Amino acid sequence: MTYFTKDKPYNTLNEYNKAKYNSKVAKISLNGGFTCPNKDGKVGIGGCIYCSSSGSGDFAGDIKLSFHDQYYQIKNIIDKKWKNTKYMPYLQANSNTYKSVDELRKIYNEIIDIDKENTVGIAIATRADCIDLEIVELLKEINQKKEVIIELGLQTSNENTAKLINRCMTNECFKNAVYMLSKANIFIVVHIINGLPYETYDDMLNTIKFVNSLPINAIKFHSLLVLKNTKLNELYEKEKFHILTMDEYVKITSMQICNLRDDIIIERLQADSSIEDLVEPKWSRKKLLVMDKIDMYLRDNKLYQGIYYKKEQ
Ligand code: SF4
Repeated sequence: MTYFTKDKPYNTLNEYNKAKYNSKVAKISLNGGFTCPNKDGKVGIGGCIYCSSSGSGDFAGDIKLSFHDQYYQIKNIIDKKWKNTKYMPYLQANSNTYKSVDELRKIYNEIIDIDKENTVGIAIATRADCIDLEIVELLKEINQKKEVIIELGLQTSNENTAKLINRCMTNECFKNAVYMLSKANIFIVVHIINGLPYETYDDMLNTIKFVNSLPINAIKFHSLLVLKNTKLNELYEKEKFHILTMDEYVKITSMQICNLRDDIIIERLQADSSIEDLVEPKWSRKKLLVMDKIDMYLRDNKLYQGIYYKKEQ
C-alpha cells in the first residue's frame, strides 16, 4: 500500500495518518530531561558535532513543567488551529531510552496516561546504542497499550563521515538495534542528514541504499544545519566546507526519494532550527519553499518514490 497523492508522489505522513487513524496527527514534543551517552562519556564526549545544547530538541517542551503541563500547553494551542486532531507525544531531545528500565517504564506510562482518548501513540527519539533486549521488552510492553514509535539517528552510512561528525556508533550497531526493534513489531523511523561535510552525491544515495536494506518503516530527511556554539560551526569557520545550495538539496533529496523503497513513509523533508542559532544554510528557514520545490522537481520530471529502486531489482 502506498500513500502518494497527485501533488506529492511519495508516501506522506499526512496521508498515512489519515488512512491509519482517520485523522490528522500532531506531534507534541516533551522534554524528559534525558542526556546522551555520546555526551556524558559512556561512548563519547562532546556529542555529535552538529548537536545543539538542547540535544537536537530545539522545540522540545519546558523541562521545568510536568509532562502533563508540557503536553497541554502545546495541545491547547494546536486545538485552536485544527479541529479533530489526534496527538502523538514525542520525547525528542537527547537519547530517550537512556535511563534504567524502571525509570523508563514510569516515564512512558505517565506519558501515555495523560490523554488516553486523544493520543495515538508515543514517539521516542534515541540512539541505536541505547537499545538492548531489556529495553525492547519494555517497549513491547508499552506497545501493547499504545503504539510505540522509535526514532533512530543514522545520519549517514559512510563510516568515515560518521567519525568526522563524532557519531560514536557503528553501522553494525545501528543494524542490530533495527533488527531487535523490528522483531518486536516496533515502528522504526530513521533520521538522515544531507550535506554533511565532504559527503558526495553518491555517499548520500548510499545512505538510502543502506536504509532500504533494513526493516525501516519511515524516514526523516534533514539538511545539515550549522548552528552557533557547536563544534560543526568551529569546523565550518576553519575549513569552509561546502554547504549545499537549496537547489542542490532539492535535487539530492528528490533523487533519494526516487531510490527509496516505496513502502517507507516520508515523515519530514527538511530540518528546523531557531533563527537566532542558525549560521548556514540561510535558505533552510524557507521550509515550505524547499518542500514545494521537491514536489515540483518530482512532478516536472515524472518521478516518484521508488522509481529507481524498482529498476534496480
Ligand atoms: S546522539 Fe543526538 S543528542 Fe546525542 S550528541 Fe548526537 S545529536 Fe546530540
